[in-house]
Amino acid sequence: MAKRNIVIEPDPILRKKSEKLEKVDLETQKFLDDMLDTMYSAPGIGLAAVQVGVLKRLIVVDISKEDENKNPLFLINPIITQKSDKKSIHEEGCLSLPGYFAEIERPAECQVEYLDYNGNKQSLKATGLLSTCIQHEIDHLNGILFIDYLSKIKKDMIIKKLTKYKKEKDKIVL
Ligand code: ZN
Repeated sequence: MAKRNIVIEPDPILRKKSEKLEKVDLETQKFLDDMLDTMYSAPGIGLAAVQVGVLKRLIVVDISKEDENKNPLFLINPIITQKSDKKSIHEEGCLSLPGYFAEIERPAECQVEYLDYNGNKQSLKATGLLSTCIQHEIDHLNGILFIDYLSKIKKDMIIKKLTKYKKEKDKIVL
């Protein structure tokens, strides 16, 4: 497994729509392993392929707590087939928006169809944090970030600060 660099907003790639994966092969699995490694070392509980610069519909998620066993979930070409009318609010963060958090309202439960690590068709009913996390990651595949749900003023402020943060970061790297 190898760690990949995480793309930080603002970056045009984060606004692109990811493409469906045609087949799950060894290369896909290697990439999923890299994504998981990248997510764990960040650390984060979810990561979409676009966040490491690959426009494919792939997601890794692990909402297990630090003192629990790891429980990674790989979702390839995920589709939400049902959303509950009931909403829930979670504080969300994003590895592409380091340091920013906001309470976001989403459907409390959702039904997701996807292919797993071995390319097998799966269906899952997600509730609680997992539901929020999967919806957040699928948004990434469609070029949507959680700040898009905030007011324009808040969103613009975050993007401005991140632009500054990236400039500072580049200076250090160089
Ligand atoms: Zn995110």
